[in-house]
Amino acid sequence: MGLNLHTHLEGWVRPETAADLAASMGVPPPDGGWEHALRMTEPADLTVFLAHVAAAYPVLGSAEAMRRVAREAVEDAAADRCDYLELRFGPSTHARPGFGIPDVIAATCAGLEEGSRATGLPVGLVVCLLRHLDDATNLAIARAAADAAGDGVVGLDVAGDELLYPSLEPYREPYRIAAGAGLGLTAHAAVREKSITGNSMPMRFVSVFIFIIACGQAPLEILQIKLSLADREIIASQGRV
Ligand SMILES: [Zn+2]
Repeated sequence: MGLNLHTHLEGWVRPETAADLAASMGVPPPDGGWEHALRMTEPADLTVFLAHVAAAYPVLGSAEAMRRVAREAVEDAAADRCDYLELRFGPSTHARPGFGIPDVIAATCAGLEEGSRATGLPVGLVVCLLRHLDDATNLAIARAAADAAGDGVVGLDVAGDELLYPSLEPYREPYRIAAGAGLGLTAHAAVREKSITGNSMPMRFVSVFIFIIACGQAPLEILQIKLSLADREIIASQGRV
């Protein structure tokens, strides 16, 4: 049994899909092409990883794009014989005028649902607050995630540069909102110290975020589900970069 509990949607964009979307949007290809921009070929630190993830951002600001990459991520996970997939992403990054945070979440959930229906793979979406955002935006993200509980969103997370923005205090109210909606709570922590090796993160990282779930007032049943999976194969990846 393969349980993927930590993969970033933006890191799982197929290069050929990015090329398609870019062509339709008039976005020029990056230096070296999409494969080079999106994929990591050797271990690197978080800064390098984030640059690869960010390469996908210019082609993701539409409902069509979010829906497609979400559906394809599920298809790819199913092809990898995954048995449960939990994807996470920061919706504010992909919001545009007329395509707000709730719209981004809805389009992504629609893609995940399509992929799940086609493959039979159970999927959940974890919505990420981002450390560099202002409090009002992170509150809007939490409210949108809470509104989508039951429509595919299963959790709230915080991601971003913890060296520049180390405090967790700004997320108290967003987490309260998410917990009130029954969402699981996770947080990125100490990620900066880890070396990212292509597709996988160390198991220690899995332990970190499971521990944070335990400290985040997550509903007890969610904690028990996570911990009961400890003897199974757990995949914690940052995507396919
Ligand atoms: Zn992560």
